[in-house]
Amino acid sequence: MDWTLACSECDATHDASGLPTVCPSCGAPWLVRYARTPDPKAKRAIAERPWSMWRYREWLPLEPDAEPVTLGEGATPLLRLHRLEGPAGVRELWVKDEGKNPTGAFKARGGAAAATPARAGGARAGTRPCVFYTAPSPPD
Ligand SMILES: [Zn+2]
Repeated sequence: MDWTLACSECDATHDASGLPTVCPSCGAPWLVRYARTPDPKAKRAIAERPWSMWRYREWLPLEPDAEPVTLGEGATPLLRLHRLEGPAGVRELWVKDEGKNPTGAFKARGGAAAATPARAGGARAGTRPCVFYTAPSPPD
């Protein structure tokens, strides 16, 4: 494994094994810390992969041979907001349209990243994994 988990609030760390959810010391979410950057070949392979968050798999907490759980999340469009650039006082203003994700929110990426090891962990333990998502975000 090329990554470990570091607590976003305290000094706790955890290896990538099992199904870590939140820091047992303080309850804060884990952040992924990579031991090294992916091989340059991975960067060249991106263009040949399907357009989803998993095309960047070497930069995500995913085992090299793991098959990701996906509904096609990620790869949401960047939209330029021409009419708001002047009022905002900026030369260019762009937003990422996360409403194009399967859940209608940015949470789809984290959900897919959590569901993938959950499925793998469940298969090893002989149990059926359950991943619960919150309801889609409201449109405004
Ligand atoms: Zn902590």
